[in-house]
Amino acid sequence: MERIYRYRMTTTSGGNLSIREPDGSTWITPARVDKGSLTRSDIVLVAPDNRSSGPHPPSSEFPFHQAIYRARPDIQAIVHAHPVALVAFSICRKVPNTRIFHQAYFMGGKVGFAPYALPGSEELGKNIAAQFASGCDSVVLENHGVVVGGSSLSHAFQRFEALEFASKTLIKAQHLGAIRFLNEQELGIAGERRVSNNVMTPNVPSHLELECRKQLIDFIKRGCRQRLLISTEGSYSARISDDSFLITPSQQDREHLRVDDLVLVEGGAHEQGKTPSRASELHRQLYARYPEIHSIVFAHPVNATAFSITDSEFDARTIPESYLFLREVPRIPYGTQYGVKSIDASGVASSPITMGDFISPKNPAGIVENDGVVVMGTSILDAFDRLEVFESTAEAIINARSIGEVCSMPDVVISELRRAFRMD
Ligand SMILES: [Zn+2]
Repeated sequence: MERIYRYRMTTTSGGNLSIREPDGSTWITPARVDKGSLTRSDIVLVAPDNRSSGPHPPSSEFPFHQAIYRARPDIQAIVHAHPVALVAFSICRKVPNTRIFHQAYFMGGKVGFAPYALPGSEELGKNIAAQFASGCDSVVLENHGVVVGGSSLSHAFQRFEALEFASKTLIKAQHLGAIRFLNEQELGIAGERRVSNNVMTPNVPSHLELECRKQLIDFIKRGCRQRLLISTEGSYSARISDDSFLITPSQQDREHLRVDDLVLVEGGAHEQGKTPSRASELHRQLYARYPEIHSIVFAHPVNATAFSITDSEFDARTIPESYLFLREVPRIPYGTQYGVKSIDASGVASSPITMGDFISPKNPAGIVENDGVVVMGTSILDAFDRLEVFESTAEAIINARSIGEVCSMPDVVISELRRAFRMD
């Protein structure tokens, strides 16, 4: 709850969480306690006979939590909150279409819509439980918010985060143009990416490796705090030598990562007992191709990602800082991240296109269609800095479009910048 509050996904009074115990009792957040400063001892235990113990009464929304658990034996934890983007859908009486991202589509599960009923009422519980009973894992509540279930609290949270992120991206993208939704075939290819089985036992880590581990963890946490990275998606790596680098592990919560969780990849083999991010092979190819690159990040900052789900061009010629950090930002076709062959109009598949065909040390940032962004740098800080500029620029462009016409810096200004900063 502390995290949901910190991410600005609920207010101090809104939202509640619960976990079901195997014996049928439920842990739930208390009613009327500041959500920004809850402690473990504030959480209420409600026994199967509805008697509660703890210093506070249970959340007034306990009835719907109970109704969902009755309807779905597989659900072990529930997140309910009023996050702004999903509330926007709820007050328009719409459900977000998650076919914009592979992650949101598969992680979010089927999304339902429950008609309005008085908060805390048995009727609201009935309306929501009916949606869960029909196979929905997330339900938008009319003029209220959202309820998400999962096999554990962290699973429910990840689902909740993925759904709110998709909703935010859809809203931002409305300012940019028509939205590209993924078809069945496109959704299917994403599942084919596998991590290689080549493992190795690492030597005693060098000072450089230890330092890289520490720095990378610091920047990953900073990226989560700044909402440039989401909890389990994206990947961040740092080069150690010609043929070795450190990378985030697959599917682990970025906010709780420790230095030992980072995975060393050397000569295409990874540390035994750990699973590197599924994008590990992409990182390896980019490091092999560009010796001057020392850090790479695939991330999902919401404004820049909004460009990825429309065909709107991202023009970094907004202010000098943007152009100096980002230069020409290419659009990378969907499928490139999975090493899929490009198919021309006559249906002939050509050799696989790779990320390195689009980005380079001269144009170090790209937009990956229906996915997010990729940024390279000469150091961990350099890549992070660039990612931050990328997101700020994207947000400024989206905001500018609601004020007036976006004016790019003319060629003469760009030439002057290129000369002054020796960019050629
Ligand atoms: Zn509520």
